[in-house]
Amino acid sequence: MADPRDPIADLKRIAFLLEVMQEPGYRVRAFRSAATTLAEMNADDIAERAATGRLRELAAIGEVTERTILESLRGEVPVYLRRLEATEEKPQAEGAAEIRAALKGDLHAHTDASDGHATMAEMAEAAIELGHEYLVITDHSPRLTIANGLSTDRLVAQLEDIASLNRELAPFRLLTGIEVDINEDGSLDQEPEVLSLLDVVVGSVHSELRMAAPQMTRRMVTAIANPNLDVLGHCTGRRRNRRMNRPESTFDAEIVFTAAARFDKAIEINCLPERLDPPKRLLRLAIEAGCRVSIDSDAHGIGQLGWLTTGCERAHLCGVTPPMIVNAMPADDLLAWAEAHEA
Ligand SMILES: [Zn+2]
Ligand SMILES: [Zn+2]
Repeated sequence: MADPRDPIADLKRIAFLLEVMQEPGYRVRAFRSAATTLAEMNADDIAERAATGRLRELAAIGEVTERTILESLRGEVPVYLRRLEATEEKPQAEGAAEIRAALKGDLHAHTDASDGHATMAEMAEAAIELGHEYLVITDHSPRLTIANGLSTDRLVAQLEDIASLNRELAPFRLLTGIEVDINEDGSLDQEPEVLSLLDVVVGSVHSELRMAAPQMTRRMVTAIANPNLDVLGHCTGRRRNRRMNRPESTFDAEIVFTAAARFDKAIEINCLPERLDPPKRLLRLAIEAGCRVSIDSDAHGIGQLGWLTTGCERAHLCGVTPPMIVNAMPADDLLAWAEAHEA
């Protein structure tokens, strides 16, 4: 076994790094007060509590700080600390480039059938040029009339277009999909039978973004538990551009991410520059919860398919590695993963 490290020093270092990264004060305080508590105890008492699983009886020590202490005592660099240290220095060009190189496709793109500016064939051609093996077409669902959301009939017709385009484009594959609205009650804005025909379903909240946190949490968890949903799109809904500065929706991120991990759904890292959603602090939480991610452009035009790079940088900064990324899988594995949700 490796020599034990100093858990107090590790906890303090984590608190310091969290502060540097302007993380919320309560997280900084959690690590700092755990360090203070340990500093007031003698080493034997700490070791005895660690060995018998009684660290959590101390008021200042919770699940994450306990795990950190146990890792230190085992002589391991705590996972939490490693992740923060990996994100400390910028730029991280190399790690981000590695993630970018691992991506095999994109799970979120619009065409001129809804509010995109390019045809499906143009989007496919651009994706091929980028080196993608596949692109999921995810136009909007019916109730998003402002974005010309597709009725069930239009969506079914689109599936035929995709099938015929695929005969020309092989081995590249256009995959069928949708960016379906998550209704206020957590249901999805398209017929379940039609959703289950699609290769990949991205579900996003586009309405009532300011609902109270408990309701929003229930809404998102209901959608995540729906067997037809595969990816939770731009989860906070934040948006910033010249015209608008929309704050994040509020919800209990731990519950939402725990549900996503439990149902093996992916949290989207949305690369639209005006979204960059989720923010890094939430992305880090999602990774801690064990969630998979998808790194998606949400492109509404061909050039926007290239925006994946910013998402790769953010992913790398938050400790994402290629095995956690669903669109780093080959198409068949991706389809098997999505299919398994409906079993
Ligand atoms: Zn959206
Ligand atoms: Zn979209």
